[in-house]
Formats: sequence, structure tokens, C-alpha cells
Amino acid sequence: MVQGSANLNTKLTEEWLQNYVDDWVKFFGRYTNEGEVASYIPILQEANKSHLGISIIGNEGMMIQSGNIDVPFTIQSISKVFTFIVACMERGVSYVLSRVDVEPTGEAFNSIMHLEMKKIKKPFNPFVNAGAITVTSLLNGKTSDEKLEPLFRLFEKILGARPRLNKKVYESENETSVRNRAIGYYLVELGYLESELELALDTYFKQCSIEISLSDLARLGVILANDGEDPKTGIEIIPKQVARLAKSLMLTCGMYDASGKFAAYVGIPAKSGVSGGIIAVAPPRIRQENLPFLNGCGIAVYGPALDEQGNSVAGIRLLRHIAKQWDLSIF
Ligand code: GLU
Repeated sequence: MVQGSANLNTKLTEEWLQNYVDDWVKFFGRYTNEGEVASYIPILQEANKSHLGISIIGNEGMMIQSGNIDVPFTIQSISKVFTFIVACMERGVSYVLSRVDVEPTGEAFNSIMHLEMKKIKKPFNPFVNAGAITVTSLLNGKTSDEKLEPLFRLFEKILGARPRLNKKVYESENETSVRNRAIGYYLVELGYLESELELALDTYFKQCSIEISLSDLARLGVILANDGEDPKTGIEIIPKQVARLAKSLMLTCGMYDASGKFAAYVGIPAKSGVSGGIIAVAPPRIRQENLPFLNGCGIAVYGPALDEQGNSVAGIRLLRHIAKQWDLSIF
């Protein structure tokens, strides 16, 4: 039988599930040894490599949390999901997709290769840096704060409070930004940017430096799991078409150049970031068995020790295990 699930007659209580998740976090915590914290942005190196935490929030409000759940972290590339959503809401899906494609690259997030080949008509997808910087250039506003205001408002609407910007990380991003500047100059040359390069980059560095807690990240996941609607109030926060598009990109391009493997072995839309965070989204599913979170859930993982592709090494294993045990796959 699936662990942490139950026969039809057994109640899947919070306590029952909590015990399993506690065991799994303890077990998979050992794999943090196998990764390294990101060092190309010096301040990220200050993270504690042995940390591993998870927060799972169901569409009906059940919440399971375990491990290092009180360590705030910057969302980094996870922000790309939400700036893409905001750009689609501001400029319309078809316009945004006329500027950035929806194809996986199979390359590192900060690869310049495709831009240099000049065969492509636009950046491959909004989750590689070239695409993400292009997306920030599409956001309305004359300053980076103005451009990011709708993103902060979206977060505030979902979380009930405005997340803070981690100034130290923002400054560190800016100081170590040569690769992103190189990408930016290619984008200027190819004519993709709609605002000044400095403005697009500054917006990008700021969005990556937004600090969040595990439970808040899981809450963002719940809204996506529920196709953009707040399950508590029934209010549409993100248009369904946009939420679905974002999820399809998470599934195909969300886990750097390990996106194919994650889709194959875990089977749920997810997006990771170099600080070690992962947002994963399990939509409602139909199964014969009574399984945990059948109505869908948002999952957030934090584990700053990264594998070679830049994903949380223990976090991936933990998610893979939970998805298997609870049959969370969308397939
Ligand atoms: N700060 C990041 C960058 O170098 C985002 C990296 C990531 O999380 O993938 O562009």
C-alpha cells in the first residue's frame, strides 16, 4: 500500500500525514551532503547547506510542514513564474508569447548559446534568463519599483502581507551580474527588449531578491493548483488561461536542464531557484483510492544544497518520494 495514504476506510488525518512527512524529511535530509550551496552570488553562500524543509497546503486548507520551515529565502528564479503571469495579465497572453517562446532549451538557465546562434526568433521560454529579462522589459512602469508593484500586489492579495525585498541579495546580484549583462546586451542587439537594458536588469535583480517563507510559497502554489482561483473565497486571482499556461511552462521548463527528468519521475509542475527553493503544484486528481490532497495542493521545499543542474538535491528526492507515495503525478 502507498505509505502515508490509506485504505478507503481510513481517515487521512493531518496527524497521520504529518508523521510520515516528518520521517521523510529526516530521511532525505542526509542527501543535503551531496550538493553545494550556490556561490556565484556570494551572499547565497551564507545559507546552511544542511537545511531541508517542506510546507504542503491543500486546497481545503490542510497544512503539513516539516524540517527547517522558519528560514526565509529569496525566491530567485521562482519569481520568473510570477513576472510572466503579471506580464500576461498586463499585456495579454498573445502579445507576451509574441516576444518569448514556450520551448524548453535543455541548456543552463543562463546560457547565451541560443542567442548567439541567432537562429531563434525570440528567447526560448520565460524561465531562462534571456526570456525572463525580456519579460521584465514588457512590464508596465518607468522604474523597477513601478514595474514590480503589480507583482507585489499579487503576492499581497494571496498572502495577506507584502513580502520584503532582501537588499543585501539584491546588491549582491547586481554586483555579480556580468553574465546577465552579457545576456542583456545580446537581447538589445537582437531587438527584444522593450525598456532600457538597465531598467530591465534592475527589475530582474529585484524580483529574484524577494524574500519569502516556505508556507507563503506553498500558498502561492495552492492558487496555481486551483487554476488561479483562491479555493477559500472562490475569487479569481489569476485568469485560468494564464495559470494553466504558467503550469505548462513549469512542467516543461521549470527545473532547469533537469525539467524532463522531473516531469518523468515526479510528474507535477514545479519551479526551482538557486537559493534552494522549489514551488510545486499538484492539481486535483481523480483516483480510485482515497489519497492525500486529492483536491490538489501547493508544495514548497527549501534545501539550499544544490545538484549540478542547480536544483535542491535533497528537495528533489523528497518531492519525488512524496509524489510517488501519494500518487500526485498529473499523468
Ligand atoms: N539570480 C539569478 C540569476 O543569476 C536567478 C537564478 C536562478 O534562481 O536560477 O539570474
